[in-house]
Amino acid sequence: MSATVHEPARQTPLHARVDVLVVGGGPAGLAAAVSAARGGARTLLVERYGFLGGMGTAGGVTNFAGLYGTRGGQMQLLVRGVAEELLSRIEALGGLNAPQDGLQGRIRVRSYDVAAYKCAADGLVLEAGVQLLFHAWAAGVVMAGANENPSIDAVLLETKSGRVAVRARQVIDCSGDGDIAHFAGVPFTYGDGAGNALYPSTMFRIGQVDAPRAQAAVGEFKAIDGLMERAAGRYAFPRRGAILRPQRNPSEWRANVTQLRNAAGQAANATDAAELSAAEVDGRRQITEYMRFLRAEVPGFERAEISEIAAQVGVRESRRVHCQHMLTGDEVQGSARFADSIGLNAWPVEQHVDGGVQWGFFHDAANAHNQLPWRMLVPVSNAQAVSNLLVAGRCAGMEHLGQSAARASGACFAMGQAAGTAAALRVQGGFSLEALQHSLREQGADLG
Ligand SMILES: Cc1cc2nc3c(=O)[nH]c(=O)nc-3n(C[C@H](O)[C@H](O)[C@H](O)COP(=O)(O)OP(=O)(O)OC[C@H]3O[C@@H](n4cnc5c(N)ncnc54)[C@H](O)[C@@H]3O)c2cc1C
Repeated sequence: MSATVHEPARQTPLHARVDVLVVGGGPAGLAAAVSAARGGARTLLVERYGFLGGMGTAGGVTNFAGLYGTRGGQMQLLVRGVAEELLSRIEALGGLNAPQDGLQGRIRVRSYDVAAYKCAADGLVLEAGVQLLFHAWAAGVVMAGANENPSIDAVLLETKSGRVAVRARQVIDCSGDGDIAHFAGVPFTYGDGAGNALYPSTMFRIGQVDAPRAQAAVGEFKAIDGLMERAAGRYAFPRRGAILRPQRNPSEWRANVTQLRNAAGQAANATDAAELSAAEVDGRRQITEYMRFLRAEVPGFERAEISEIAAQVGVRESRRVHCQHMLTGDEVQGSARFADSIGLNAWPVEQHVDGGVQWGFFHDAANAHNQLPWRMLVPVSNAQAVSNLLVAGRCAGMEHLGQSAARASGACFAMGQAAGTAAALRVQGGFSLEALQHSLREQGADLG
């Protein structure tokens, strides 16, 4: 029996012809779309779910990291621009928590309500003039141009109306998994190149928590590890380094405690349909086991219940697209500076390894951030860029350790804003690094 099926050639209806197509509506994609539209480009944002936010909503992350870091010894907001606007809108809807410090004051994060994020993102994107197409899955590309100068002629989408095509002068891959770059033949590396990616987690939220008693019992991240150690043997814990923190409503907590493996014990691969499917089931199994532990062993959680399990497995890392610059862990930890900076990352290296979490902090605690170079958004293909493609977010040009840091939402917003601004400048024929940096500064972005 043949292992393939021959599909007949077909004529695919053209859904839209735009200046800029953004695929994926996570932090990178929504910032890219807003910036491209504000830059004067007719912009379409395509998202497979019926809402924006990416891992931040569909993956149940419920927490902004990497927006705040130190500069000159002062902890401050370092990712500004579109991210700051989104935070203001979430706050106006009553869905943003006050900043929370952690890891002995090395990090500052802000948790949020998922529903408020979804509503705030709709308003931000639509008011910028972006066209939205939800429930649309990018499934392929049609290429144009000779091998030496390839470009994307059209992106193919599967929708409830059937398969459609979109023609765009510029395409920005914000799919998180580098789907478009992969379809276009741009090389990538999966995880560390030896089959080990950061382990995924299914996120969930817990309601009915007795906040003061829970806070006293769990305190900082490490206290929960002590409680788990004492109970080990009676429960199957997938990892150490559990993160249990209150949301804006203090009786609701987010739990980042699961770890999803494939049959070989490596991180479940989010680009493998069968592994991803099995991981969904395993994530929910791990959650029920963790709830058994919390209710029986942790003060304040006796009456706790699961208030939500994320719509999908939380994917930290899959394809890292080969770009003109691949941000390294050393560059993050060394607070690297680049002449072609387009924004900042303020999150340390956070590796989700087998059974636990390993941190790699900035060496200079007083300047805990690094610049992000423009070149990490420009994909290479046989040393030649696909001329109308940019990549932003967790699948952009980063080495495994660099991605372990700059995959946090903060840097993804910064990359997206830069990619969208650059795409609009390219459409108008006015792109140069100086023009990009000038425009980003005018928009309030902090390039360091
Ligand atoms: C378990 C977990 C915990 C985390 N904790 C934190 C945290 O506390 N704070 C923090 O800031 N960050 C955290 N992160 C990291 C952060 O959430 C992500 O790295 C970030 O959301 C990446 O943004 P992105 O826009 O690059 O991609 P994503 O957020 O993954 O968004 C990609 C979007 O593209 C869509 N998409 C994908 N493929 C297609 C396709 N083919 N066609 C159409 N649409 C497509 C997806 O539906 C999604 O909306 C965590 C991540 C995980 C998994």
